[in-house]
Amino acid sequence: DELDHREKDSLFRARAGKVIPSGMYGHMAVQKLPAGYPQFMERGEGCRLRDVDGREFIDFMCGWGPIVLGRRHQDVDRAVSEQLDRGDVLNGPAPVMVELAETLVEMVPHADWALLAKNGTDATTTCVSTARAATGRRKILLARGAYHGAAPWCSPSLGGVLPEDRAHLDFFEYNDLESAKAAAERAGDDLAGIIIAPVKQELGTRQEYATAEFARGLRQLADSAGAALILDDVRCGFRIDLQGSWAPLGVQPDMAAWSKAIANGHPLAAVTGSEWLREGAEAIFVTGSFWYSPVPMAAAMATLSVLRDSDALDRIRVAGESFISGLRTQAAAHGFDAEVSGPVQMPLLQFADDSDQALSSAFADEAVRRGVYLHPVHNWFLSAAHQEADIAQALEITDEAFAALGRKL
Ligand code: PMP
Repeated sequence: DELDHREKDSLFRARAGKVIPSGMYGHMAVQKLPAGYPQFMERGEGCRLRDVDGREFIDFMCGWGPIVLGRRHQDVDRAVSEQLDRGDVLNGPAPVMVELAETLVEMVPHADWALLAKNGTDATTTCVSTARAATGRRKILLARGAYHGAAPWCSPSLGGVLPEDRAHLDFFEYNDLESAKAAAERAGDDLAGIIIAPVKQELGTRQEYATAEFARGLRQLADSAGAALILDDVRCGFRIDLQGSWAPLGVQPDMAAWSKAIANGHPLAAVTGSEWLREGAEAIFVTGSFWYSPVPMAAAMATLSVLRDSDALDRIRVAGESFISGLRTQAAAHGFDAEVSGPVQMPLLQFADDSDQALSSAFADEAVRRGVYLHPVHNWFLSAAHQEADIAQALEITDEAFAALGRKL
């Protein structure tokens, strides 16, 4: 099958099986994905990817979020190479760290300070510690099923996790304010913080933006308890609204966790916080060997300046809208009962009566074999590199994928 040619990928998988746990682990492991997905990639440019066997894809995952301007973006690459020429590990941060913190404080309404780290998990965990240090309390509330990272306190797997790691967490249902009120009552005067993602984006479920009523309700709950409202903007941040993904709802958190798109693919995370949490942030000890590297910070400065000074966010939205409306039309034309949910910048297509995800998997498989890289259960990501012609070409391929799926059934 020519659509399925992958000699090198198989070779690397065989070698990986001997030296890498599970052959591959984490969110980029493809063992549980349909057979059409390659594991190993060779290069990427703009919104295009090429795997190790030379197959080309129009990419709708954007590295699971980090790529917001497109791969090999000139301004970002230039900033990176200029900083690389000066060095990346210098026994102290470069001035760009101050510039970036200033940029975040200026850009994000709730922010009076910013702390820089590497991964989203660093940022969410730092927010939780800061809330506890600032309040002297223990309880953290979170939405059931929400992903906040891979540390023992929040990992979706219980492998290697102790009950003690999860002590003092309590849960509510996303977009259900009553359940959050009940959890806040259970926490009583021990409530340190509420952590919440701007959008409900659990795997294989309908994506749901927080309602304004829910967001405002959590804001009030935190205020009346004297607890911190923490927005986990790791996944949505810098793709929807530069002031934070609840800015369109008119709700500001006390702290936010950022990563993914902040540096267009370079490893960086940030926590922003308001004044009353500054002492909490000063009381905790957080650090890492690579947290002060100026190269990703230079990449972030370039990324944020493009996002601020160009129509990049508009273009992402327009690309998402046209992809989604094309998919909806095609699904209906091929006789499928399908729904696209989530913000247009990060949609997910699901089929009705597909609780085992057989249909979404089969569709994604037909798409990836023909050169459109999306995901059966995780939300997708659009970037500013997705031009009209890319969306049109992708839609030609998804039309064939729907047709092939129809023939199979
Ligand atoms: N929070 C959310 C909402 C995320 O989507 C992610 C990553 N998918 C994280 C936290 C953790 O980020 P990282 O994988 O960079 O540690």
